[in-house]
Amino acid sequence: MANSKYEYVKSFEQPDLLLPNTWIVIRIDGRGFHKFSDKYAFKKPNDRRALDLMNAAAERVLIELPDVVVAYGISDEYSFVLHRSCTLFERRSSKLVTTIVSMFSAYYVHLWPSFFPYSPLTFPLPGFDGRAVQYPTVQNLRDYMSWRQVDCHINNLYNTTFWTLIQQGGMDAKAAEAELAGTLAADKNEILFSRFGMNYNNEPDIYKKGSIVFRDYELVEATTSSPALNEEALTAPEIALSKTQAEKERKARQKAKVVVQHVDFIKDDFWEQRPWILS
Ligand code: ATP
Ligand code: ATP
Ligand code: MG
Ligand code: MG
Ligand code: MG
Ligand code: MG
Ligand code: MG
Repeated sequence: MANSKYEYVKSFEQPDLLLPNTWIVIRIDGRGFHKFSDKYAFKKPNDRRALDLMNAAAERVLIELPDVVVAYGISDEYSFVLHRSCTLFERRSSKLVTTIVSMFSAYYVHLWPSFFPYSPLTFPLPGFDGRAVQYPTVQNLRDYMSWRQVDCHINNLYNTTFWTLIQQGGMDAKAAEAELAGTLAADKNEILFSRFGMNYNNEPDIYKKGSIVFRDYELVEATTSSPALNEEALTAPEIALSKTQAEKERKARQKAKVVVQHVDFIKDDFWEQRPWILS
């Protein structure tokens, strides 16, 4: 294209490359969902349909962006983790964040009728904000994930007790808030149990633990035949093997089923049993 006298404006753009070799977390959050959840009469404290919709939109993001290795969702937020080797958009922050935010939002709106068939979306439509944060070590990344899961637990225990005091205890929001001021986790468990016969441990895991989305390689492993040495491998062992290996991994990655689970990943077990997620 011919140069124009206007082209200098391009030089005002600022670089926003994320550091190489770091885990990138892109966290998105629904805009004004307190109000939005009222408008569509989300069940309090947890509307299962709304969570399933968030999870379905997140699943699509993992299916379409192989660089996203794992994602975790609670309430109106989702954290997407890009592998530290990710080179998508040369790791330009704004490109990565806006691509995930718009893809997620588009699927959220598109999939809405499957989850809320009797509540058509009206203007203003829902939207999400997003940010990118980088973590240099797997430990930092796992601590980030644990931070969000602990938040899920704390918020859910509070919200469950708060709404039980209102819905079953007949309190108004102000009284319920006052009742819970300064209480510890054990106190809330006790309120639920002694006053309402509710055992918090029996609440559904999706509410207590949130939703983690990842590729389940075990399913693929079971159907793939064992790797055989090919001609290429015999002539130039190292290069060819690593090439076949990379190709094999790429194909396995594409075929692997994206799953949503509601499990504890603060303990080591989750990651030790699924070493491929952060490898
Ligand atoms: P902001 O725009 O600053 O994010 P917000 O109103 O979205 O404001 P958040 O702190 O993100 O505030 O909280 C989201 C709110 O959305 C929750 O407090 C809750 O009221 C509501 N919400 C989100 N998901 C659900 C759900 N599945 N069931 C019931 N309520 C939900
Ligand atoms: P990237 O993901 O890097 O943006 P891209 O394929 O979207 O890649 P762009 O430079 O953004 O590339 O160009 C968008 C392209 O989309 C145009 O080159 C054109 O081919 C096509 N396109 C966009 N809008 C229209 C339109 N209204 N009519 C026909 N073609 C269009
Ligand atoms: Mg917020
Ligand atoms: Mg929000
Ligand atoms: Mg939120
Ligand atoms: Mg363009
Ligand atoms: Mg384009």
